[in-house]
Amino acid sequence: MDRDAILLTPGPLTTTLRTKLAMLKDWGSWDADFNAVTARVRERLLDVVHGRETHVVVPLQGSGTFSVEAAVATLVPRDGHVLVPDNGAYCKRAAKLTQMMGRRATVLPVAEDAPISAAAVEARLSADASITHVVLIHCETGTGVENPLAEVAAVCERLGKGLIVDAMSSFAALPIDARKVRFDALVAASGKCLEGVPGMGFVFIRQAVLDACAGNSQSLAMDLHDQHVYMGRTGQWRFTPPTHVVAALDAAIEQFVEEGGQPARLARYTDNCRALVEGMGKLGFKPFLKPEVQAPIIVTFHAPAHPAYDFRRFYAAAKARGFILYPGKLTQVETFRVGCIGAIGRNEMRQAVEAVADVMREMGIDSGAPAL
Ligand SMILES: *Cc1c(COP(=O)(O)O)cnc(C)c1O
Repeated sequence: MDRDAILLTPGPLTTTLRTKLAMLKDWGSWDADFNAVTARVRERLLDVVHGRETHVVVPLQGSGTFSVEAAVATLVPRDGHVLVPDNGAYCKRAAKLTQMMGRRATVLPVAEDAPISAAAVEARLSADASITHVVLIHCETGTGVENPLAEVAAVCERLGKGLIVDAMSSFAALPIDARKVRFDALVAASGKCLEGVPGMGFVFIRQAVLDACAGNSQSLAMDLHDQHVYMGRTGQWRFTPPTHVVAALDAAIEQFVEEGGQPARLARYTDNCRALVEGMGKLGFKPFLKPEVQAPIIVTFHAPAHPAYDFRRFYAAAKARGFILYPGKLTQVETFRVGCIGAIGRNEMRQAVEAVADVMREMGIDSGAPAL
């Protein structure tokens, strides 16, 4: 089929034609026209979290993880101590990169099918005064569970701890209001719910902690403080910017605003998620999470118990029908994941469910029901 498949993944995502067309131009990184695009993108990003009064936003080249790593290296002093509540794969990644940045990290293990408890975070912080920062994954994309950002932020504020939020898969879809929720840094990227293309991340940094970040980073390329100072002085990125990615993000944000911003995006993704879960439910599939803790970002389904099921064949057959699924990321149970995000709506979700039904017929699977 000479048509792009629909990406039902947590990024890269299906983008609009308008976003793709924004990349058909070469920009000089030194040129005032490109600097104006960067400045506009930064202002509009701040608007998404209502952060113009309290935060700056610093873009960084690379995938989302580069920005998480940069946020830890820039925000946490070298003798700092980070608490990472862990209910999934992205939490584990954050703890690992914190350690590799040479910072002390303490992991607080939590069940994979439940949100992190703010009370448990509070107890841990109260028990260990050496902890300086908490790293919280807002939506744990490994399962799709939403963690309680506002509650954890309130605990950190009350106990005087720094908070770094990985909001990669939630930013622009779930509500985040910097006027109400205090965070020192919040990280997201171009290729997730803003529906740009992958290639850059960005970190909101609270102005009140910005000066203290100077000199923390042991990496030149990942130093967000230096990137911010240089950008403030010159309007330019420190090193070669991902020009086409920035231009595509600018176009994607324009469409985000036209659609109605975060509330409209959340409504569309919620509708996508509902259509997906209902449709798959009729085929017998069961989500891993309870509905009340499921974020409308990505749904983890149990693998069918039927002996003919095999994820690779299932994936290939869905791909042949134009839909790209995502493998599971749990170690204990066999699962697969289906994303609800990207420039897609209820129609695409319905077609995806029909494709899955067709795949099951081809594979001789009569029900998606998992083993009990
Ligand atoms: C996508 C994602 C990231 C970044 O992953 P990259 O592959 O580096 O872009 C980090 N955290 C979460 C929660 C994510 O969903």
